[in-house]
Amino acid sequence: MEFDKNTYKVYTWKNWMYLHYIINPGLTFNELVLGQRIAKTGLVERNTDKPFVARNYIPCPHCNTLHGSHIWSGSRGFYNWFGLYCPNCKGIIPCIRNATSFIVLAISSPLWYPFKNALKKSWYKKQEERFKNLQTVNEPAPYSTTKQWVLGGLLFGLIMFVFNSFIFPLMACQKILIENLAVSLAICLLGGLLFTLFMKWYLSSKKIN
Ligand SMILES: [Zn+2]
Repeated sequence: MEFDKNTYKVYTWKNWMYLHYIINPGLTFNELVLGQRIAKTGLVERNTDKPFVARNYIPCPHCNTLHGSHIWSGSRGFYNWFGLYCPNCKGIIPCIRNATSFIVLAISSPLWYPFKNALKKSWYKKQEERFKNLQTVNEPAPYSTTKQWVLGGLLFGLIMFVFNSFIFPLMACQKILIENLAVSLAICLLGGLLFTLFMKWYLSSKKIN
């Protein structure tokens, strides 16, 4: 699909936000458990004073529809394990894959691969129902409150802490260093908090193109 580069900035895996999504092991939980996904291509409208979050579009490669990315906000932002459902042509918009998720999926493939088609079929059947009331959703949902961002940041930090201090050392057969846990927890919580506060600023910014 070709896009008018004067109207839209095109985001792919080469953008730092997407690269962060691919590299950050903390997002494995979001992707594999919560089913939060990011389309392989995203567009941001230029030359408008709408805030960043309201300028985001996701193109469907099957029917060429430009969807406002708010379609996948709220509960529709979750459970997208097999990709983003296009409510226009019922196709699946391909998504990028987090690197750690990829490794986890590869290692655990004997457990899920035999059921993949059945799981995908049952997931797909539910999508039409989830996306059928979209006509009423014309505007992006109101931004999350600062309290929600703070809680999200702390949760994100906690997940990073669990991965860094327990899951990765266990996978690498290393000893868990009890004496480092408190410092590690503090760093992860602070890191998570800074990350989500930065995202809050970034998503509501009107200046970024
Ligand atoms: Zn489509």
